[in-house]
Amino acid sequence: MILPKYAYFKGKIVPYSEAKVGVMTHALNYGTAVFGGIRAYWNEEEEQLYIFRPYDHYRRFLNSAKLLCMELGHTPESLTEVTKELLRAEGHRCDVYIRPLAYKADETIGVRLHDLTDEVTIFSIPFDRYVSNDTDAHVTVSSWRRIDDNTIPARGKISGAYVNSALIKTDAVRAGFDEALVLTQEGHVSEGSAENVFIVRDGVLITPPVTENILEGITRRSVMELAREELGIPVVERPIDRTEIYICDELFLTGTAAQITAVTRVDHRPVGNGKMGPITSKLRELFEKVVRGKMPKYRHWNIPVYM
Ligand code: PMP
Repeated sequence: MILPKYAYFKGKIVPYSEAKVGVMTHALNYGTAVFGGIRAYWNEEEEQLYIFRPYDHYRRFLNSAKLLCMELGHTPESLTEVTKELLRAEGHRCDVYIRPLAYKADETIGVRLHDLTDEVTIFSIPFDRYVSNDTDAHVTVSSWRRIDDNTIPARGKISGAYVNSALIKTDAVRAGFDEALVLTQEGHVSEGSAENVFIVRDGVLITPPVTENILEGITRRSVMELAREELGIPVVERPIDRTEIYICDELFLTGTAAQITAVTRVDHRPVGNGKMGPITSKLRELFEKVVRGKMPKYRHWNIPVYM
């Protein structure tokens, strides 16, 4: 993987090689960090780089930080400004992934959240696809269960909690699948290892509500709005039973990295007729236009980097 040229570190933009922490760092030992994942999309005609919904991403980032008793002294606006400055320094002219990370920076022993120093770092790298097979993915149902809100809240993007996602992903990939869906302790479908999930049944788009131990995805929110507004499709948030994913007409995953990934097989069973469905296909087309700033109605989601 290509390394960034720069990082925002301890309040300023520095060469990436200077953005280093010691091995005793609290967050490295205890997972006491929160992060974000944001994309910026290159628009070739306009020669412009558009960050997709950074204010929403940073609002969620600051909420995640709040869950870990962090005080960052930042607002979504100030973090977006820093991000623009960083992307300009890199001079990206391609699609980009941006990773903000807030972490307990003290080099000290003792697991806790209080009386520790919080730091923010941000870096960015050129980025293309995340799920290599995003038009006909094969997913399984993980044997792992999703972390519960009263264990480690999934609505926060908490570094330590991603061990749950890593267990899910590795077992799925080693078993020959592209991804896995994970069930809540009650046995409802929660989400993918790093994506929210949608199914289509009888023309209705269904996704688990935010109380099903999901990350409150920005792509999820965007897709719900596009489905309702642009395609006139009803969207329902309700718990999804495991067997509904074996009989649904369409199934797809959403995430900043995964974008809209069509799932055409679940546990060796075809989804619908085994090909990407029409609603998934239309949403993918719309989403691609929206993120590149090609739909005037949604231009408020696209924040330009270059002047
Ligand atoms: N769920 C999990 C567990 C994730 O890590 C992600 C990726 N951030 C998502 C869902 C999708 O969220 P978003 O659309 O905001 O990237």
